[in-house]
Formats: sequence, structure tokens, C-alpha cells
Amino acid sequence: MPGGWSRKRIFAGAGVLGAGALVLLAVGGAAAAGFGSAGSDPGQGVTLTLPSPPDKVAIIEARTPGRPLVLIDPGHGGQDPGATAVSGDISEKQLTLQLARELRNKLASDGRVRIALTRDDDRYLSLDQRSALARRLGASLYVSLHMDSAPNPLARGATVYSLSDVASDAEAERLAQSENQALERAAGSDGSLRAILSDLVLRSQMTASANLAERVVRDSGSVELRPQPHRFADFHVLRSAGVPAVLFEAGYISNVDDEAMLRSPDQRAKIVAALARAIEADAAARSLR
Ligand code: ZN
Repeated sequence: MPGGWSRKRIFAGAGVLGAGALVLLAVGGAAAAGFGSAGSDPGQGVTLTLPSPPDKVAIIEARTPGRPLVLIDPGHGGQDPGATAVSGDISEKQLTLQLARELRNKLASDGRVRIALTRDDDRYLSLDQRSALARRLGASLYVSLHMDSAPNPLARGATVYSLSDVASDAEAERLAQSENQALERAAGSDGSLRAILSDLVLRSQMTASANLAERVVRDSGSVELRPQPHRFADFHVLRSAGVPAVLFEAGYISNVDDEAMLRSPDQRAKIVAALARAIEADAAARSLR
């Protein structure tokens, strides 16, 4: 764990979050307020105990209280390695975790938002566990990090996806289907959420997610993007997060140049800077509303 941001840790009992019934209450509500009060000192870290895996989630506080909580989700993990890089010696789950930690550290040093990771080690989390965390923690933004892979070895560049009922293109549709498949391996699905969320709430979630995705594209700087970098599809994890959410595919690990780029700390720093700009601007706009 990097030094600097984790000055103090507070352990809250599982009772703070309670049983499953509390999950929906936690959407932008009680849980967020409760957690905020636990970390009123600037830069203070808070560790919460959850009743089911992941059992502990560290929240990095912002410099000023009351800032939005950003949940960063490194895709895959544990028995689910995701795609394998073209070199064959690194997998998506390793690169997503690396990128997520670097993004967390950057956001923590800026101090403008509160931050948590869905996983900070090599563990398996179902899609439902990931999106349930967003709701339980009362996250304001959810950013899932992935790396693409394609049969065409020349395919490269980053893409940002937001939620839509209808996919923007066939490739987005296929990607969503393949990412959604992880759901079938998960024990205990949370399919009831779709019925619970009203259509109005869902439309505003989709609009806010699309705005965040556009911001990521606008703030991408020197990060290489694919043509039409903002795409849409019905990603289960984005839908059930219940908050503005994007899935960022940082590049193609099936491409030699992109793999080298994603493995380079300097190159990753550009991606991290771009994502941090977009996240902080979106969070600032959200706080003003
Ligand atoms: Zn993935």
C-alpha cells in the first residue's frame, strides 16, 4: 500500500452496512452519509467491513469533506484472468489492477474526490459483487477498467463504453455479451434490480454515464483512442451499478504496441492523468448541482 494517503484506518463493523436489504437504501443515501462522517479529516483513510466478499474496502477521503465517492473497478481477477496479452506473459487482470492502483494514487494525491477500489488484490469478484459495492458505498461514479483483445493483431487504441439498451455497433454488442457472461459464473444474481430502478432513474443514469464517457474522450490528451471512441452497449455491471458509470478499455493487449504501451509506467501515467481529469471534472460538476 502506498504511503502518504493512508494515514489512519478506522474499522467499522459489518453492522454499519447490514444485510442485503440495506443495499438499495445505500444508493446515494444513508451509507454515503455515514461513511463521510467517518472520514471528516482531510486525507484520512477509512476501512469498512462488508458482510460478504469483498470483506474490506478502503476509502480514501478527499481534502475537503462531502466530495463524491469514485469507485474504481479493476476488471477480472482471481480465477478470471480476462484476456491474455500477445506476449503470453501477462493477463488483463494484472494490468487492470496496476492501472486502477495508479489511478487511485493520482486521485488521492489530487485530493478532490473520495476513492475506493472494488479489489486491491488478485481476487475474483462477480459482476454483481462489483456493482453492489457501488450501491452499498453510495458511490457517485463508477469506472470499470479493462483491456481489449481482438483476433485482428492490428486493432489498437482505447474505447470508453457507457450503458445503453441498444448497442452502438456489433462489436460493442459482442463485448457487452462477453463481459456479461461472467455473471453466469456468479452465485446469487441480482437481476431484480432492473425491475426496481424506475425507467426515469435509469434514463438519467444513462445520460450521466454518456456525459462522463464524453468527458473522458474530450480529456484524453495524448492517449490513443479508437475511431468513434465513445460506444454504447448493455453492460450488466454498468446497469446494476445504479450510478453514472463507464467501462474504459485502455487498449488492446492483443496488439504488440498497445501491450508495450500498457506495460509502460510512463504511458500508463498518461492514461491515468486523462482519466483523473475527466473524473475530477465530472465530480466537480456533480457537486455543483
Ligand atoms: Zn475485460
